[in-house]
Amino acid sequence: MVSPVERRRGYWNRERETMSAAARERYQARWLVRLLERAGDKAPGVRHRLERAGLRPADVRGVDDLARLPVMKKSEMPELQKADPPFGGFCTVPLDKVRRIFVSPGPILEPMGPELSAWHGETGLYAGGFRPGDVVINTFLYHLVPAAHELDEALHLIGCTVVPTGVGNTDTQVTVAKAVGATGYVGTPSFLMTILTRAKEMGGGRLPLQVAQVGAEPLPESLRRQFEEEHGLLTRQGFGTADLGFVAYECPEKSGMHLLEEAIVQVCDPQTGEPLPNGQIGELVATVDNHTYPMIRFGTGDLTVIDDAPCPCGRTAARMLGWRGRADEITKVRGMFIHPRQADEVAARASGIARYQVVVGREGHQDTLTFRVELAGGASAEPVTRVLETAIRDVMKLRGAVEIVTAGTIPENAKKIADERKW
Ligand SMILES: [Zn+2]
Repeated sequence: MVSPVERRRGYWNRERETMSAAARERYQARWLVRLLERAGDKAPGVRHRLERAGLRPADVRGVDDLARLPVMKKSEMPELQKADPPFGGFCTVPLDKVRRIFVSPGPILEPMGPELSAWHGETGLYAGGFRPGDVVINTFLYHLVPAAHELDEALHLIGCTVVPTGVGNTDTQVTVAKAVGATGYVGTPSFLMTILTRAKEMGGGRLPLQVAQVGAEPLPESLRRQFEEEHGLLTRQGFGTADLGFVAYECPEKSGMHLLEEAIVQVCDPQTGEPLPNGQIGELVATVDNHTYPMIRFGTGDLTVIDDAPCPCGRTAARMLGWRGRADEITKVRGMFIHPRQADEVAARASGIARYQVVVGREGHQDTLTFRVELAGGASAEPVTRVLETAIRDVMKLRGAVEIVTAGTIPENAKKIADERKW
């Protein structure tokens, strides 16, 4: 009998993934200096940004210096590229060295340069359980957008065999997965479920799949449990964007996504671009080590939180705790950002809530935060209040009051966070 593949232990690059905080800082400073030198020289778009901030490439010697450069918003990219086609002056190689040009919604164009693995997908795929010899169906879209190609290349670097099945054709996916003995899947979690369900309907035994990397949409824990417990599929996810490539990935512990050593991630105040301390919610701003397309202080418009507590897997990189919504839905209360999804997270900790709304007010010179709640029939106020007060402190890092109101007080389609401050 063939022994099962060990998918939970080991690292793609042990030295890099387990380095000390000081070593990581030095490692990132080294590539950052190189990246800026090259970009300042070859990418006029980057040079102009630096000049406008009164900086020369050589002024950025380490991660801390990056904050002197204003955040470049993703929403500005279509205009910047229109003004200086095709890449807005952000590509460092001549067009005849570009292997592919991707077209993302916007439209925003992304060049794929001559070097392999500019998107750094291998580290996350390996941590997620992919191993040399895996045969993988890649069900991401192979035209226009980059995800399928990024993963294709990363799988190839690990030593996997890729079957570029692309999107759709569920019956063919099932037939092909069986015919080639596919052990791996990459694609969206919802399509994975579609394939598994269809395989059951078609009969002829279960699919040989053992490991999956999912992305491009949220992965509910209930769905992950189904993949893992009912289908025996080790399921992990990563975070990235078309512009940046991979930024973070889950390890076997699945407790947030480790930040890649090749991405400098700062969680920033969405209004000022100022980096915030770990633990606070803010906009994900990233600088990535991509020689062809160096995105520097690129503001994704996505909100997240960074946790730097140690992880039992041995990787020393901090973790981003998932996607927390869009930066334009955020409200600042006593210097802390709060988001509708945090309100949901607070409410989910208590049972017996029919409807709720967070009200931000002002008393004297102090912001106030009130969690207004309508109780479900039979629920009593005291335990709900107690649980919510703790949850507000845990999730929002703020002290807030809980106010139980009579049914019908909160309008049916009320905003999750009502800002009633008058300035
Ligand atoms: Zn870990």
